[in-house]
Amino acid sequence: MSVINFIPLAVGSHANFATNSRISPRTYLQFHQWLGIIAILEGLLHSIALAFSGWVGVSPVVGGITLVVIFITSRVSVQRRFYEVFLKAHVLLAFILVSAIFYHVRPTVVYALSPILAWLVMRLMRAANILHRQIRAGAHGHEATILDLGGAFLVCVKLSRPWDFQPGQYVYLTLPNLSRSSQLHTRSRWSLVERFTEPLQSHPFMIAWWHRSRDDCSQGGYQQPDTVVLIVEKCKGFSEKLARGSAGDIVNVKERLQIHTWSKERSTEESPAPEPVAAGFPDITCWCSQVESTSGQIAIIEGPYGRSLDLGMYDRVLLFATGVGVAAQIPYLKKMLEDFPERRRPQRIALYWETIDSNQVGWALDWISRLLAMDERDHLLIQIFLKDGSSSQDGKKLKCITRTFDEKMVAEEIQSHSGPCVREDVGDMIQKVILQSLRPDIHFRELSFRPST
Ligand SMILES: Cc1cc2nc3c(=O)[nH]c(=O)nc-3n(C[C@H](O)[C@H](O)[C@H](O)COP(=O)(O)OP(=O)(O)OC[C@H]3O[C@@H](n4cnc5c(N)ncnc54)[C@H](O)[C@@H]3O)c2cc1C
Repeated sequence: MSVINFIPLAVGSHANFATNSRISPRTYLQFHQWLGIIAILEGLLHSIALAFSGWVGVSPVVGGITLVVIFITSRVSVQRRFYEVFLKAHVLLAFILVSAIFYHVRPTVVYALSPILAWLVMRLMRAANILHRQIRAGAHGHEATILDLGGAFLVCVKLSRPWDFQPGQYVYLTLPNLSRSSQLHTRSRWSLVERFTEPLQSHPFMIAWWHRSRDDCSQGGYQQPDTVVLIVEKCKGFSEKLARGSAGDIVNVKERLQIHTWSKERSTEESPAPEPVAAGFPDITCWCSQVESTSGQIAIIEGPYGRSLDLGMYDRVLLFATGVGVAAQIPYLKKMLEDFPERRRPQRIALYWETIDSNQVGWALDWISRLLAMDERDHLLIQIFLKDGSSSQDGKKLKCITRTFDEKMVAEEIQSHSGPCVREDVGDMIQKVILQSLRPDIHFRELSFRPST
């Protein structure tokens, strides 16, 4: 029974084909975790029973110890601190376990090898996806340009194969040469280890924006997007190291483009946060094209994965975001304002965004201004909740408030449907408020990514 459970477990915790269906990555991860716990308990009981029955052998002992080590190293606290080490160790331990099972049940070899087969099939599917996106006659592979946004990075990836994207989708990003491109690179033992491990790291990020690169726009007519934009929050691993490949910081690029830079401190005196700007607002998608072309990084992209929510069926849509989670909501807003015909467009669209970092407001405001400019019939309201700071802005379509999300505020606002991309505690709080309201016409939908801030 334990071995049968290992077959779906071997597919991995991020079975992305499943997340293209109705199953969210978080639900699938929980399924993987619970099935893992059940398989470990079954395997341990089996090992203990064998020991009591006097069956002496290496395989039950190795199998039992491996199960205990897998259980201990899979704790969330370990994953949070040492994700990459955990990931590689998890796969290695799984192979040791399958070898022990193989040795133990040798006559029924198919039974023991099926988890390996499942793992191989999944790997091949992922490799095929990467190759299909990467290889195209005349193209040189994907190229990523990184810009420093303060607490986050903007990563523009020019794709070798254009593709149609949907809101709510995410991709896995690998930058194999990141450790080599570092100016900060030191000749320590760790940097040598990083050189070997970094090309193997792939991290999921929501697609915040996509567009056709400028040089190709002249051809006219609809063309599939060939550039995706990701917003990556600085954590302690791969994301922090993006600074090494950064082509510059956003303030310099914007100054070069003469884009108005808004900051919380400046908003009250010199320049209030802008109300909708007229069409012709400098195209944010050209930020990356302003930096040296030599600063591009070779990139490997897997995906896109994830299922898009159909928000056109709702009369009112409330979107909640915290921190960089706003990057996941922007494509939904853009789609509702740009693609939906007037009769299918929700009558009220509101974005509530809580952030502690005024740098985030700086870069997101350019996108927000563009969205407000698209909203000709006043469907859209955007409220920014700044955790600290003294400024406030009370425009018709854009409000900036010094306050955090709380139950009272959420209960006041939820008269309709909502879809959050928020921190764990905020997501739970919104869900609780909706359940308490006992209104069957309110639907709660959560996006694939829960930001840490
Ligand atoms: C579907 C999905 C979409 C996401 N979209 C975004 C986004 O748009 N912007 C953004 O900033 N972040 C996003 N994330 C989170 C992002 O993947 C992690 O923050 C990033 O991988 C951290 O890398 P790190 O090495 O710097 O992290 P670390 O500092 O090593 O760890 C920080 C946290 O990230 C987790 N983590 C580390 N590596 C991975 C990985 N490969 N897969 C999943 N979790 C990991 C760790 O468990 C830990 O909790 C998304 C995550 C998922 C699952």
